[in-house]
Amino acid sequence: MPGLVDGHAHLYDPAFTYREDFTSGTSAAVAGGVTAVVEMVLTTPVDSADRVRAKIEEGQRNSLIDFSLHAGMMNLNNLPNIPAIAQLGVRSFKTFTCKPYHADDHTLMSLMRETAMHHSILNVHAEDETIANENMQRLVSAGRKDPMAHTEWKPNLAEERAVNKVIQFAGGIGARVHISHMSTQEGVAAVRKAKRQRVRVTTETCPHYLTFTRKDMKKQGPYLKMNPSLKGPKDVDALWRGLGDGTVDIVTSEHAPGTRAEKEPGWEDIWKAWGGVPAIETMLPVLLSEGVNRHRLTLQVLQRACCENPVRIFGLGTKKGVIRTGADADLVMVDLKMKRKVRAENLHQKVAWSPYEGLILKGWPVMTMRQGRVVFQDDGILAKPGDAEFLPMFL
Ligand SMILES: [Zn+2]
Repeated sequence: MPGLVDGHAHLYDPAFTYREDFTSGTSAAVAGGVTAVVEMVLTTPVDSADRVRAKIEEGQRNSLIDFSLHAGMMNLNNLPNIPAIAQLGVRSFKTFTCKPYHADDHTLMSLMRETAMHHSILNVHAEDETIANENMQRLVSAGRKDPMAHTEWKPNLAEERAVNKVIQFAGGIGARVHISHMSTQEGVAAVRKAKRQRVRVTTETCPHYLTFTRKDMKKQGPYLKMNPSLKGPKDVDALWRGLGDGTVDIVTSEHAPGTRAEKEPGWEDIWKAWGGVPAIETMLPVLLSEGVNRHRLTLQVLQRACCENPVRIFGLGTKKGVIRTGADADLVMVDLKMKRKVRAENLHQKVAWSPYEGLILKGWPVMTMRQGRVVFQDDGILAKPGDAEFLPMFL
């Protein structure tokens, strides 16, 4: 099949290279059949033309695969930089409806107008700030620090309310918006309805929201802390169904590793743990094993969600996400019957753990090619940093 195009992965933040960098993150990517990635800003801002240029150069030096970027985190201060960033071919911007990068309603609408005017897309982390604050007050006064407290902070309603707001604003303004890492059945229903009404909204979910529920936090505790938090079994079902009918456009890894040292304190105080999981190398095996081999996903839908749609949504040109004459030969060969136990020590990421540790997955990539050259085979990485090209967006 075509190599996967991961539309949302945190591979490189200059402040956190002990977690991952372009070389380690894209090594994990090719071992997982991912041949292109749209790198997502983490905490070091990528919100001016200079900062975008610096990050492109970093990727060109150290990535093993072709890449594009999301710029962020956007707010009223860096809004005037949108035209210059778009000029560089980065036409995807990220903002939040909640902490730690809360954009209020006015900011959100201003960002939508500006991105729309510059043929760009606005990615929104959609969880409601008021509901989060209200729940936080209650949890703090009850002295709650256990892992489950984190899942009560921003429940389904928080996502539902924020997704609906984003859709309403986008519909009114005529902006293109993309809901990041959706986790709830209510979110799926809202997007389904909005698409029928021709609102220009797309959305993504991630392997962890398709496989785990908040119950799994009882065993894995802070290691499954992420934002949005895990939800219930009905949400998992709704996300698989949403993928099947095209409501959920893409699956992204939302690769956001933290070290064990950053996770462990969460057993005592969940608010002190890093939120995020390593995911880029296990994304395809999880989708093959839990999706295709369990008949919750067809290979056609997998290809649409992980190859064609990310290219279309983020405007990555005509050469990625397809097998066709003239396209880049970015390919992955998968063995649908191969069974393998996930062992973090066999993965190529920097951090020494995986939320899937010990799980036997059926269906693994066995060979990956980028632009016609083998970059992964027999568990070996055959690509070198610096081979990668920056992919400008055309929207
Ligand atoms: Zn993210």
